[in-house]
Amino acid sequence: MADNPAGSMKGPKDPETRTRGRDFIRTLIDAHQAEGRYAQVATRFPPEPNGYLHIGHAKSICLNFGLAAEYGGSCNLRFDDTNPLTEDEEYTRAIQEDVRWLGFEWSKLRHASDYFERMYVVAVGLIEKGLAYVDSASDEEIREKRGTVTEPGTPTTDRDRPVAESLDLFRRMRAGEFEDGSMVLRARINLSAHNMIMRDPVLYRIRHAHHYRTGNDWCIYPLYDYAHCLEDVFEGISHSLCTLEFDNNREIYDWVLDNAGFEEPRTHQYEFARLILDYTILSKRKLIRLVKEGYVSGWDDPRMPTIAGFRRRGVPAAALRSFCEMIGVAKVNSRVDDGKLEFSIRDEMNRTAPRAMAVLRPLVVELTNWDEGRVDMLDAPRFPDGAGSAELAEAEGSAVSGPARELPFGRRVLIDREDFAVEPPSGWKRLAPGGEVRLRNAYVIRCDEVVSGPDGEPELLRCSVDHDTLGRHPEGRKVQGTIHWVSEAHSLPLEVRLYDRLFTVADPEDVPEDGDFVDYLNPDSLVTLTEARGEPSLKSASAGEAYQFERVGYFVVDADSTDGSLVMNRTVTLRDNWTRKSGADGNDGAAGGQKGAGKGAEGAGAAGKVPQESPGPKTPRGPVAADDRVSPERRAAREANPVLAARFDRYQKEFGLTLDEADILSGSAANGDFFEAALSAHDDPAAVASWMVNDLAGDMGDRSFADLPFGGPAFGTLIARVAEGAVARRAACEILTEMVEKGTDPDEVIRRDGLAKVSDEGAIGAMIDEVLGEWAGKVAEYRAGSRNLFGLFMGQVMKKSGGNADPGLLRRLLTEKLEG
Ligand code: ATP
Ligand code: MG
Repeated sequence: MADNPAGSMKGPKDPETRTRGRDFIRTLIDAHQAEGRYAQVATRFPPEPNGYLHIGHAKSICLNFGLAAEYGGSCNLRFDDTNPLTEDEEYTRAIQEDVRWLGFEWSKLRHASDYFERMYVVAVGLIEKGLAYVDSASDEEIREKRGTVTEPGTPTTDRDRPVAESLDLFRRMRAGEFEDGSMVLRARINLSAHNMIMRDPVLYRIRHAHHYRTGNDWCIYPLYDYAHCLEDVFEGISHSLCTLEFDNNREIYDWVLDNAGFEEPRTHQYEFARLILDYTILSKRKLIRLVKEGYVSGWDDPRMPTIAGFRRRGVPAAALRSFCEMIGVAKVNSRVDDGKLEFSIRDEMNRTAPRAMAVLRPLVVELTNWDEGRVDMLDAPRFPDGAGSAELAEAEGSAVSGPARELPFGRRVLIDREDFAVEPPSGWKRLAPGGEVRLRNAYVIRCDEVVSGPDGEPELLRCSVDHDTLGRHPEGRKVQGTIHWVSEAHSLPLEVRLYDRLFTVADPEDVPEDGDFVDYLNPDSLVTLTEARGEPSLKSASAGEAYQFERVGYFVVDADSTDGSLVMNRTVTLRDNWTRKSGADGNDGAAGGQKGAGKGAEGAGAAGKVPQESPGPKTPRGPVAADDRVSPERRAAREANPVLAARFDRYQKEFGLTLDEADILSGSAANGDFFEAALSAHDDPAAVASWMVNDLAGDMGDRSFADLPFGGPAFGTLIARVAEGAVARRAACEILTEMVEKGTDPDEVIRRDGLAKVSDEGAIGAMIDEVLGEWAGKVAEYRAGSRNLFGLFMGQVMKKSGGNADPGLLRRLLTEKLEG
């Protein structure tokens, strides 16, 4: 990066001088630092060792370890191993490997199980104070007597058990005298608490199970709400960061610590938005299913959103870190476009991956005026302008050295089939009969003759070389296209694995009640090409090394490679193929790119801007009390305006909105006016609020609701269409993007683009028939018992309908047709 005169704008790429965005967590810590509240900033990353880490965890890792680094504090890696039934040594090993690979090192490695004895002692203390009791009521009775949101709970008989008796029973629970489920230890708090979690939560349960670390030492295990806060306080954590779902758990976190006698300044919990990524599943339970049921080859399958999967796919750790930085940390959940991730990957690999040429689907070109047996060695740069090579030379063990590579050039070369067309469309810039094209880093050639095979497909092209065109333009004419190639005699065999999105829909978690997320698996998520050939400089490439195959995409050498045959994984295409218009000039595009039907990712990749989920409050805040979680600006606006204050109240009490939603929607007159106007078109406050806060706010950037080119009623209409089932949610998100851009009327877009959800039995039935016809072989396999294929058929029909088929109806009809 060029010199940056002091005081000038800092480029976002310059890690030294970057002025980090002050998200709400950093703002808060700044205030604590100013006040001298904690001796040091201490954070932790607390995974449960019951699965591999995924990209959502990467967000949490970058946040926790990043804060420790920025504030000169510490960050522990702590295994939250309080559930003996689901934990596994393999996972603890993989988690450590992944955190290190991401570029972080923990201050201390800890296990929740290290603290079982201390937690037990704290529990005894609570019983002695009359704040906990052993309850022998059944799980079911406890659940029933807890009441409902509208009705208070009622005590079980044991709630008034004398302290001495509880103490005795708790000791005997530990000693193993009782069976699983026969009794629990509960906190005695308040059975009519507004927050259901506070209605005498269970702290300990009996589990006669082997624990992978403590063996059979324990047969009582603490529950999350009791254990987590103690783990934090025992380790001297200052800021305990977790995702928004734990917002209701904050109250019990504080109750336990306060009643166990931990004084301020002690640890506090703060919640941030979890990462939700388009076309991706981030629930461990579901990821486990993909692995155990064989939908993928393992936790490190390059299609998995796991850190191990990304690593094997060739995604650099730096790209994951910059992605996490780009999305930022916000207080409201929102979906993240997968285009942002791809942008980070390309941005990184463009700088670090040396260039090479490879032909994925070869077509032979014979150069008739090139002497038989003559082979010239041509120079080609490893990086377009020398950039990146220095970084690469530093990378240890890299096979790449020097600024250039040598390309042998002989009488027969291979080009990609997709770079030749017998009948080229208008605007074609690649090779065609009688036409000219430049072979990259080499000569201009003209196609004189096409030799076709028995099936009519071109088998060999006879071309002539213009010998005067090495490194210069041809005389008197312009040759527009350039294509990649390899020398047939010198090329290396490659197995190329083209990976694509694992799911066909943006939100694979959004399944109908009778559905299953595996129905949305993309049948084309892996395409293997075995005929590909690469340039000879790849010979010394070893597993993990990345390349840009010029004009094709970024690839990495897979661990399955052997001496004689390289296996290359496609990490990412050169450009975003999902948003690109098909039929556009393919000259600089990706040969062999995917031709998906979806178009989810909106130009984030191309724009190169660094968007933020939300800028977060800008003014520093004072010490934060437990209930002080709203934006200070919006709170100030409400203090100045009683109408807004009344809205804040009403939105929560009458409409049941969350604190965050109510805060945003009552934070300015414009927000509330827009919200209420939307309700006039669709009277479902929870739905409208959620769309406004999660979807609309994400689309509109820095603009205010008042500046949008459409009003609340149009917005309400769009949500109504989703509720009526007239459009799919995915389509509605796209409509909303266009509304934000151009103010187009939603109904007009639905008509114009034919987005109306297909819920016509006849239409879906016809699509199913077509698909079953096309996949007759698979249908036979399905009927012979391969039930896993159901997802394939679902995915294919969904694709045919452009993603608009009603999933529930599709599932029913498909089942009928397959069974019938
Ligand atoms: P799951 O619910 O799928 O089991 P989890 O959240 O329980 O996942 P943990 O191993 O308990 O998984 O998570 C460890 C840490 O990572 C927690 O602090 C959690 O908040 C954080 N985390 C998990 N998923 C995400 C996500 N999608 N985005 C950000 N942070 C996450
Ligand atoms: Mg968890």
